Amino acid sequence: MAMNLRLHVSRLDHIRDYSRARHIQFSVIDLDKSNEYPANYVCMLPLDPRPRANGRAHSIFSKLFGNDSLEFAKRLLTKALKTENDSDIKAEIEKRLELLEPKPPVQVKCIICRNFFEPRWRKQKICQECRQKKYVSQK
Ligand SMILES: [Zn+2]
Repeated sequence: MAMNLRLHVSRLDHIRDYSRARHIQFSVIDLDKSNEYPANYVCMLPLDPRPRANGRAHSIFSKLFGNDSLEFAKRLLTKALKTENDSDIKAEIEKRLELLEPKPPVQVKCIICRNFFEPRWRKQKICQECRQKKYVSQK
């Protein structure tokens, strides 16, 4: 499918809500479809555009863009940031971009060798090396 995609960031000022962030809506639009919103509407840009770890898409966005979802969302947001003049919307775009950046690795102390390591799953207490040794000694 030929697509000329952009972000359409709009304020929903008619909705009365205490949190400002929710007043800003991120829609993906296709300029090949139409120049007018909402005729060119494709889908919403979710906060987390990544497909689920098990490979199943959880949003229309990740269904459309699959494994490229994260990179594509970043590209759309970066492009929108360059053309946006509204400071509130700019701040919201920057917040979204920050959410998409990988977090710095967490270091955990191994309960066997006392060295710091990067856990591969939550609550991992033994480093990969010690796990390997344990596994070999059990054989
Ligand atoms: Zn260890």
